Amino acid sequence: MEEKNKISVVIPLYNEEESLLELHKTLKKVLENMNCNYEVLFIDDGSTDKSWEKIKEIRKENPFVRGIKLRKNYGKSSALDIGFRHSGGDIIITMDADLQDDPQEIPELVSIINSGYDLVSGWKKIRYDPFIKKYTSRFFNLVTSKISGIRLHDFNCGLKAYRKEVIDSIRVYGELHRYIPALAHIQGFKVTEKVVKHHPRKYGKTKFGASRFVKGFFDLLTVLFTTRFIRRPLHLFGTLGLISFILGTGITIYLTVLKFLYGEYLTNRPLFLVGILFIILGVQLFSIGLIGEMITKSLNTEEDILIKEITE
Ligand code: UDP
Ligand code: MG
Repeated sequence: MEEKNKISVVIPLYNEEESLLELHKTLKKVLENMNCNYEVLFIDDGSTDKSWEKIKEIRKENPFVRGIKLRKNYGKSSALDIGFRHSGGDIIITMDADLQDDPQEIPELVSIINSGYDLVSGWKKIRYDPFIKKYTSRFFNLVTSKISGIRLHDFNCGLKAYRKEVIDSIRVYGELHRYIPALAHIQGFKVTEKVVKHHPRKYGKTKFGASRFVKGFFDLLTVLFTTRFIRRPLHLFGTLGLISFILGTGITIYLTVLKFLYGEYLTNRPLFLVGILFIILGVQLFSIGLIGEMITKSLNTEEDILIKEITE
C-alpha cells in the first residue's frame, strides 16, 4: 500500500485578520477530504491587527493548526523560510492568506508532486490584480525565465507545492521568494507549473508597494551571482573585462593609426580617454574575476550537488 502523504501547508500572513477564519474553513475541508496527514502553519509576520488572536482561536478548534509569530514584520520571504524550517511534512504547500489562492487546487498539486515532480508552481492564468501589476509582472516573468533558463508564466504565485528536499536545500530572505522556482531549477530539481484559480482580494489591501520592483530587481542579481557565477566568477568578470579591453585596445590602435598616417593629435580627442578608460576597466574587471576565483578555490566549497544512492 502506498504510504500516506504528510502535507504541511505554510501560510505567511501580515495583517489579514478578516480572511483567516474563512481561509481555515475551506482549507480544512479540502485537507480532510484528501486522506492524508496534514498540518497547517500560520506564520504571523509581525501583524499589528488581530491576526494572532484569530490564529489562536483557530488552533483551539483544530489541533492540526500551528501558529508561529515573528517578533516584527520581516517580510514574506523570511516568513516562508521560517515556515519551511518548522514544517514536518514530506510535501509542503505554500499559499497566501488573503483568499486570493484557492485551497481546492491542493489535491491536484499534490498529485503532480507524487507523479515525480519536485516543485509545482501555480500559474494565475486569469488573474484579478490591478492593471499595472499584471503588466509589470509579465515583464518580470519574461526576464526571470530568460535568465534562469526555466520557462514559467508566473514565478511569483503564492500557491506552490514542494517536495521536502527542495525546501531543505533552498533558503529565502529579502524578496527572494519570487525566485524559488528559478533557484530550484538551477539546482537541478524538476519544476513544472499548473494553472490555478485566482480570486480578487476580498479584505484588506496588498502588502507590497512600488518598492517591490526595485527590490525584486536586486534580488534577481543576487540569484544570478549566488547560483550561476558563484563557482566561476572569472566567467562573468573575465568576459566583461575582455570585452572592455578589446574595445579599449581597438580605439587606441585606431587613434595611433590616425596619428602616424595623418598626423592627428591624440591628446585633443575625447576618444583617446575613452580608449584608455576601457583598457583600465578591462584589466580591473579581469583582476576582480581572478581574485574571485582565488577566494572560491581557497574556500574549497564542496559542491552542492543533488545525489541519490540506491537504498533498497
Ligand atoms: N505577507 C507577509 N509579509 C509581508 C507582506 C505580505 O507575510 O511583509 C503575506 C500577505 O499577508 C499575504 C501574502 O504574503 O498572505 C501575499 O501578500 P499580498 O496579498 O499583499 O501580495 P499580492 O497578492 O498583492 O502580490
Ligand atoms: Mg494577494
